[in-house]
Amino acid sequence: ALHEVPDVSVPRNVRVNTLKLDVDSALVELRKKYSVQKDDLLHDLLILPPGTDLHDHPLVKNGSIFLQGKASSMVAPALSPEPGWEVLDACAAPGNKTVHLAALMKRKGRIIACELKKERIKRLNDTIKLSGATNIQVLNEDFLNINSKDPAYSKVKAILLDPSCSGSGTAASRLDHLLPSKAAGQNVDMERLNKLAAFQRKALQHAFLFPALERVVYSTCSINQIENEDVVKSVLPIAESYGFQLVKPFPGWPCRGLPIFEGSENLVRTDPAKHGEGFFIALFAKKDDVNLSAR
Ligand code: SAM
Repeated sequence: ALHEVPDVSVPRNVRVNTLKLDVDSALVELRKKYSVQKDDLLHDLLILPPGTDLHDHPLVKNGSIFLQGKASSMVAPALSPEPGWEVLDACAAPGNKTVHLAALMKRKGRIIACELKKERIKRLNDTIKLSGATNIQVLNEDFLNINSKDPAYSKVKAILLDPSCSGSGTAASRLDHLLPSKAAGQNVDMERLNKLAAFQRKALQHAFLFPALERVVYSTCSINQIENEDVVKSVLPIAESYGFQLVKPFPGWPCRGLPIFEGSENLVRTDPAKHGEGFFIALFAKKDDVNLSAR
């Protein structure tokens, strides 16, 4: 629902769905009408002027490009699953990151898209269909109930965990704060935040139980420390006991985690004012994940 609140101050981003169209062709097509630049960090992201409305554009309608912000488009590349891997998207609907994973994996391997809420499965299926991906299996299940020892998951090498969060970093939520009735922090509901954080912690801990796991990415569209750095800090000992450590995705990215523990510079934050949305990304990898440390 983010696009219903147009933020005219930050550039629009579109992610080219490389399953359907290559980036240069998208550039040529979009430049017929708009001034378009390539993003300098993400090879599949294009930048359009603030306020550009592409909802009815044919390339959007046919799934060649997705209206996806930069922060959200950084999550799958942070995980950078290799083509051929088995990957689990733990909290998948509406599926923007699921189909981004599929594009990065170049149709090779298998993606399991897990979503708890039955009413969100249709939207997830629609996204997958629109993307053209054919190697995604949808699972209507509670991620916490997935038995990591079930042979069906014995080859899962990467997990993308983008759980329910407060959404406090989104454009919609930030505009909400400007409403007089919600000013002065009255909408910060600590009980709700504590519940969300408890789930986020549980889900992240659950991810480490998968036997063939090499990488986990944890992301939120929240700016709250309690859902971000605090969650990561609290699971670090467990992660380490399974042989995982925090790794630094996008090393040149200036905006990092709040300095509340040693290693928080590995975390990625995006600044709502600068990047349109406030996201948080943490990447854990097995200590011997050589391919990743060579990036
Ligand atoms: N990654 C998605 C994307 O980029 O399009 C957005 C995910 S959204 C932030 C979180 C999703 O997790 C919601 O659809 C929610 O219904 C689902 N969810 C919440 N609890 C869950 C659970 N225990 N198991 C699986 N999915 C869950």
